[in-house]
Amino acid sequence: MEKTYITVIGLEVHVELKTASKMFCGCRNDPFHALKPNIYTCPVCLGLPGALPVPNKKAIEWTVMAGLALGCRINKESRFDRKHYFYPDLPKGYQISQYEKPFCVDGKITIGDIREIGGIRKIRIRRVHLEEDTGKLMHRSNTGSTSNTGSTSNTGTKDREQVTLVDFNRSGVPLLEIVTEPDIRSAGEAKAVAQKIQGIVRFLGISDADMEKGSMRLEANISMFKGLALPRQGQALPNYKVELKNINSFRFLERAIDQEINRQKKILSCNKAVKQQTFGWDTERQELKPQRVKEEAADYRYFPEPDIPPISLSDRQISDIRNQISDLPDEVFEKLLKAGVSEQAAKVISSNKAVAEKIIGVIGVIGEIGGDNNKEIRDIGNWLMHHQKLAETASAEELVGMFRREKAEVVGDEGQLGKWVEEAVTENRKAVEDWRQGKEAAMQFLIGQVQRKAKGKADVSLVRNMLSSKLANDL
Ligand code: ADP
Ligand code: MG
Ligand code: ZN
Repeated sequence: MEKTYITVIGLEVHVELKTASKMFCGCRNDPFHALKPNIYTCPVCLGLPGALPVPNKKAIEWTVMAGLALGCRINKESRFDRKHYFYPDLPKGYQISQYEKPFCVDGKITIGDIREIGGIRKIRIRRVHLEEDTGKLMHRSNTGSTSNTGSTSNTGTKDREQVTLVDFNRSGVPLLEIVTEPDIRSAGEAKAVAQKIQGIVRFLGISDADMEKGSMRLEANISMFKGLALPRQGQALPNYKVELKNINSFRFLERAIDQEINRQKKILSCNKAVKQQTFGWDTERQELKPQRVKEEAADYRYFPEPDIPPISLSDRQISDIRNQISDLPDEVFEKLLKAGVSEQAAKVISSNKAVAEKIIGVIGVIGEIGGDNNKEIRDIGNWLMHHQKLAETASAEELVGMFRREKAEVVGDEGQLGKWVEEAVTENRKAVEDWRQGKEAAMQFLIGQVQRKAKGKADVSLVRNMLSSKLANDL
């Protein structure tokens, strides 16, 4: 009999805040659109000696805002700390981050469906803190002869030289880190948590949270144990965890986790111990690859950042930030359902802020919720689900107008449609015969014939129904 394993997963999610300037200096924060490397830099974000960091107020407010949206308690006294490690993308030799006193702690999010029994799962958020992003390394292969670095001069001209370049446009960009408790139990849940967080920061308007561009990055920690029940609160978790990095899409997150679960299951079922280690996702090969050995916290030699005083937040400041939070995806979803939007459309629309805002405007244009209005809102919801680009650009009034015109033009009069169906069937005996022989395409052809008579304005689903029953009776 196969043994049962419980999977334990904790996520660390990084999102770049889209403030106008960087975290500790006045440099422009727009690394993705920079035309050249190293143009948005200064002594602070290049880590030159003597340069002093000045924290970005907006980034702190947005961190608190994210914490509140994630149900966290806000520390009234917070502090920045130095986290030391050596890597060429980190010019100071340390990263300014937060360790013992982050801005936000003890939050939670929910995933799953409220209306299903046992459908809702609560995932605790351990902390939300603020730090600075690093520079970016680029690995290139240069031709020796065009190299002007001088490094090839006395070794003779090599044809191809592997070089690593560093771009500091991203160095010092404000970076939010959201850490969950290890409450996640499967790859699918991990994906749901990550998508939930993405939706929240996007609705708050504080980050683009784009996985492909790297403004949202994920790390998953995984361990497993044999057993049947989930560990009770306080019960010891496995004494190791395997970290998965370099994952740049939700699909890859699921794949990487599933691969790792299988690997650990195999080891555990031979009664062996899983080693604590780090893997990176290799997108090209679609598999995990071992990475450097993970540092312990002690190796980072954290200590308080001496150049930035501790930060205190008053109740008043915190409540002012709370008041800036408008509807989040869950609330929008509930609102849309109440207004009559179908569940599927509500799900799609509440994951896109621009469309969600537009449909709330549309509901306003249509008027009071209830009765016929709900039916129209339902239809518009379904229509908008398939016209999201349009929804982002047109105004609410325009959208209602477009929808009503499009609908009015559809011929749904069964008397008129019946006549065209009758004609199409008598004029196209071959197609009717083909359909009887089981050729599905013949139905499409007949619908096309009716559409020609209707100048493309016939209600297709009605026509299909009428044709089906006509053919079934027309023996
Ligand atoms: P570190 O200090 O090594 O970064 P943390 O204790 O801060 O480790 O945890 C980092 C992440 O790993 C968190 O998301 C946490 O939930 C998760 N985690 C901790 N222990 C485990 C475990 N045994 N299995 C899976 N994930 C874990
Ligand atoms: Mg960590
Ligand atoms: Zn700078």
